[in-house]
Amino acid sequence: MITLKEALTLSSDELEAFKNELRKKIEENSEINAYIDVKSVGEGVPIAIKDNIQVKDWAVTSASKILQGYIAPYNATVIEKLKSAGLTPFGRTNMDEFAMGSTTQSSCYGKTLNPCNKDCVPGGSSGGSAAAVAAGLAIAALGSDTGGSIRQPAAFCGIVGMKPTYGRVSRYGLGAYASSLDQIGPMTQNVEDAAILYDIISGYDTKDSTSADIKTESVADKLNASRKLNIAVLPKYVQNASDDIKKAYAKAIEALKSAGHNIIEKDLMDPKYDISAYYITATAEATTNLARYDGIRYGHRVEGSNLQETYIKSRSEGFGDEVKRRIMLGNFVLSSGYYDAYYVKAQKVRHLIKDEYEAVFKEVDLILSPIAPSVAPKFGELKKPMDMYLSDIYSISVNLAGLPAISLPVDKNAEGMPVGLQLIAKAFDEQTLFDGALSLEKEFCTILPI
Ligand code: GLN
Repeated sequence: MITLKEALTLSSDELEAFKNELRKKIEENSEINAYIDVKSVGEGVPIAIKDNIQVKDWAVTSASKILQGYIAPYNATVIEKLKSAGLTPFGRTNMDEFAMGSTTQSSCYGKTLNPCNKDCVPGGSSGGSAAAVAAGLAIAALGSDTGGSIRQPAAFCGIVGMKPTYGRVSRYGLGAYASSLDQIGPMTQNVEDAAILYDIISGYDTKDSTSADIKTESVADKLNASRKLNIAVLPKYVQNASDDIKKAYAKAIEALKSAGHNIIEKDLMDPKYDISAYYITATAEATTNLARYDGIRYGHRVEGSNLQETYIKSRSEGFGDEVKRRIMLGNFVLSSGYYDAYYVKAQKVRHLIKDEYEAVFKEVDLILSPIAPSVAPKFGELKKPMDMYLSDIYSISVNLAGLPAISLPVDKNAEGMPVGLQLIAKAFDEQTLFDGALSLEKEFCTILPI
């Protein structure tokens, strides 16, 4: 598959021919179920779009039954930015319903398969975007990351996934899951493409009140893999990971050393606290955001005899089990008797996590961390919802602290499954993040699965 950098040099005739080839290939690989729908608007380099990003006149459903029939009346800011840079949205990719999940199994369109091993999950919630890029069915894709949903599927499928600093990329037109955590980001074949796509979609936006009003400098034209950086490694923190991950982690440390970086041992608090703080915060925000799907103004319409019945029926029929579970949990942690015990406490833990990262970043430029505790599990391996929540131990603290991070493939296990790790940087220091990632990628040479 051509890279984004190469695609940007093609003529419009070459791009049209390429898109026809792509359509054929997607059709031939329909079993993977990476795309919900393949459409293209206008000319330009085709970019696959997660089904929770508004593209004007497209059906956009967050892979939920409750949004069937909804047509986006406007473009998300990231889509406007793609278009002005000569790119074009091409196809809606599959995802967990409302981005809630780590496996892409909770989509109302059925599961997506991992192109590296079809018995394995592609990760989630941006599993469709990751599978599309990994299977050569997209040059690059956009995903969204609330607690790992770009970085973890990227790692499971052997591609690069980057979550920008909170506030760096406009959320205008992104279907909200947990508004204080959500960020849109690039999913690509290599680090340089991720930097190119990040440059295109980032920047201050008056339409998003949480957008950061600071200057965003381009990073791709300044990429420098030879900078020598101070990088923190976390020997104790990785103990909760599988042997595959530990092995890849040790190899990555050696690679960083041989590239001339200075390695410093650090530790972070037990990630079990991240899980509690995240699942309380995320579900509290989700329950509030999802209140708008009422079947009355919009949502899955089921006529009842009165408004209350319409509301109850449309929500009970329109939402899947995982979404309902989170709506209930979110209401519980926000209810008057439990608000202080759960929600307020989770916000305090969130502050501790942020402070802890800030303390580490006083001494280092980057942190090397696992992104998931194992390689992609097989379908059915994560049996209970709690097993899935616990598989997020390494991804969610980055969102709670609002930091930028990039996941890239560094190894393959004995079965040939990709192993990804992440680098984490200070807030708004994306340049250092990409420089470090490029240097790591150079040591390993990106391992693309197909
Ligand atoms: N797996 C996490 C969750 O289910 C993260 C999802 C995401 O980043 N959208 O909430």
